[in-house]
Amino acid sequence: MSTMGKAIFILLLAVSIHFEARAQEVYFEGSITFDPGRQAAAVSGKWASPVDSRRGLSFLNSAVGAPNLGRRISEVKMSDAAGEPVAFKAFNAAEYVAEREFSAFSYLVDLRTQADNRSAAHASWIGAETGLIFLDDVLPLVPDGGKTGARILITVSGDWKLAGAQTSRPDRVYEFANVGRSVFVIGKELRQIEGQRGNAALTLIVGGQWLFTDTEASGMTAEIYDEYKKIFGGAPTDHAYIVLLPMPQAGVSKGVWEAETRGPTVVVSSSDMPFKTQSLQRLHEQLRHEIFHLWLPNGVNLTGPYDWFYEGFALYESLKTGVALNRIRFDDMLDTLSRAHGLDAAIAPRRSLLEASRDRWNGADTQLYARGMVAAFLTDVVLLERSKGKDSIEAILSKLFAAHRPPARPIEGNAAVLELFGTAPELGEIAANHIRGAKPIAWDGIIGLAGLEEASGVPLRVKPKISGRQKAILNKLGYNNWRNLTR
Ligand SMILES: [Zn+2]
Repeated sequence: MSTMGKAIFILLLAVSIHFEARAQEVYFEGSITFDPGRQAAAVSGKWASPVDSRRGLSFLNSAVGAPNLGRRISEVKMSDAAGEPVAFKAFNAAEYVAEREFSAFSYLVDLRTQADNRSAAHASWIGAETGLIFLDDVLPLVPDGGKTGARILITVSGDWKLAGAQTSRPDRVYEFANVGRSVFVIGKELRQIEGQRGNAALTLIVGGQWLFTDTEASGMTAEIYDEYKKIFGGAPTDHAYIVLLPMPQAGVSKGVWEAETRGPTVVVSSSDMPFKTQSLQRLHEQLRHEIFHLWLPNGVNLTGPYDWFYEGFALYESLKTGVALNRIRFDDMLDTLSRAHGLDAAIAPRRSLLEASRDRWNGADTQLYARGMVAAFLTDVVLLERSKGKDSIEAILSKLFAAHRPPARPIEGNAAVLELFGTAPELGEIAANHIRGAKPIAWDGIIGLAGLEEASGVPLRVKPKISGRQKAILNKLGYNNWRNLTR
């Protein structure tokens, strides 16, 4: 069924977001020259338009697994409109303050890989064969004033080249409408597989050697993308990109990976697995989770700390989709949900999801997302039960996407989610007790609706005797898929 056309390039792929850059939105205009041999970039340019308080030059100072990013910046130079040098002081490693207004500047960025493997999916690096560039840690921070774009002449020295979505640009001048959402890849030998899913393009970029083939990876990407497109009721962007790269650090053990979905680009940075079946299984798992994020949160205009929702619902929906696509067993899903409930039940003192999202201590993300997944599961069961199988969590997802995809105005994510919960009276209890409030969750009662039970020492499982109505809910959750699979 694949309409994928395959092309193998020696390339650098430049990806910009799908909103067209407008000249007046550009804050930086200049050039970046990547030097793979030195694992560095030379940046020079100017503020694209006169804006006040240009006495400061600031850089992103940290990303996941990459503290002190500012230390990578060196050889900073500033000059005024007449080309005269402007003196400055380093306020700290990521912030420079000039003695007077400056308009042009240049600096070097050290892009050697960082020790922490996680950084490979969140901060720019150049490795031996490939490089991954998150534009927001190479360019100066977006200043106040609403301009988020950049116009950049990009050069890569040596035999690393430019190609991909914007290969048609003979002048190598790339426009990025939103630096914070822009990712691109540079490399010697990256494979690019172009696909068209309905009216939207889907490009897969693969670097390195894997136990799975490029065809298997592109088939999987398309399968998952199509499934979510069906659920959400539309494409998240005109053109989405999936980037699969080996972890660039030396000696990474098997099974280590990190991923991020930024703007329209999914980045999976990973080592392989010992065996091919595991390799395929894990790729599917990585893609199921990350591709979901193309829609939520990246495809909607929602703000604020509502990650309990989009991470929790991503975890749940990717499990459910895994069962639906026969990639994982129904029992595996129950097992994961059971463990998530265990985490949720252990919270003391109990806090609402909104409260837990607001003031979070270090390392509490796993717990918060597990609790979000529990909320998603219970929401699904309640909707299925009350609607006799007609409604489900997918309705919540598609309504949220339809109401808040661009050009919808930005609004607060938690408010939008709660408003949607408010339209379904049967969800009142979950919203009041679990999301807004901190009462213990009515777990046993709700799982019972689906013919499930859980006792101490016995994991979540289907009751020996279930009613027709319970069986119908179980089948909607994927129970039948699993039975068909084992047959
Ligand atoms: Zn996630």
